[in-house]
Amino acid sequence: MRAWVLDRPGPVEREPLRFVERPVPEPAPDELLVHVRACGVCRTDLHVTEGDLPVRRSGVTPGHEVVGEVAGTGAAVSGWAVGDRVGVAWLRRTDGTCRYCARGTENLCPVSEYTGWTADGGYAEYTTVPAAFAYRLPANVPDVALAPLLCAGIIGYRALLRTSLPSGGRLGLYGFGGSAHLCAQVALAQGATVHVLTRDEASQRLALDLGCASAAGAYDAPPELLDGAILFAPVGDLVPVVLRALDRGGVLAVAGIHLSDVPSLHYESELFYEKELRSVTSNTRRDGREFLELAARYGVRATTHPYPLSQAQRALGDLKAGRFDGAAVLVNDL
Ligand SMILES: [Zn+2]
Ligand SMILES: [Zn+2]
Repeated sequence: MRAWVLDRPGPVEREPLRFVERPVPEPAPDELLVHVRACGVCRTDLHVTEGDLPVRRSGVTPGHEVVGEVAGTGAAVSGWAVGDRVGVAWLRRTDGTCRYCARGTENLCPVSEYTGWTADGGYAEYTTVPAAFAYRLPANVPDVALAPLLCAGIIGYRALLRTSLPSGGRLGLYGFGGSAHLCAQVALAQGATVHVLTRDEASQRLALDLGCASAAGAYDAPPELLDGAILFAPVGDLVPVVLRALDRGGVLAVAGIHLSDVPSLHYESELFYEKELRSVTSNTRRDGREFLELAARYGVRATTHPYPLSQAQRALGDLKAGRFDGAAVLVNDL
């Protein structure tokens, strides 16, 4: 099979990924072999490729938004058959026994494994996934439209949960890429008023097209105070800006896996009145299943930009340069 591998992390402009010939992987006894149909391009892939995240597996194949078909099953797998439609996401494995797993927060498991970082992912013709961490997918949504739901969508949904937004609440989304435009659709369908704050004008237009109440620059004040906000832009400088836009009791959830330093905070204007600053770490399988169900019910759709699998490096470069709105998706055309 053909697969992209990361030689040595570095700026994507210097092409740290190589498109190579590899044997088709053998699934472990509890794993599925997956024929990749489409794989979304997530900002985390860029962080892996450029070395913002430390190397956890040398020569790793990135990619953790896989829509595919089961092509084989390990000896211990039940409930899956060759030909089944399957989704592969970021969280690949947890121990299931630690204190965090035991209390339903497997996203915090310290020995967890991740697709496309600690194990080979979906920038390839085939990949593997532990059957217990594979997702069933709705039948009536095309591969390319589904792929970004598997990380961007699920993480956006967890971030929305982390804001504890009251019913009918006012939500601010700072940054409006792949994750935010999916999160916005869920929030709107659930009755929230959504304000989008991003410097990118194409993204502002997309936000208004989706039904958001306003769109302005990232450092602008929203037209009303917010009950909840999600910071999707990896910009720590925005943290105090967003906190000042929160109403009493408002919650800011930082969605990124990577954030530049947060400047010092002014307690009275930025935290007092029980404002809260929270992070978002990966997701549980429950978040994933819940989101995929809601996405099907609400008709959540990703705005996508397909690239052939052979153009993965260009897709990452375009993501970095902000050359598209919505989400890039690699299509296995081999
Ligand atoms: Zn655990
Ligand atoms: Zn991701």
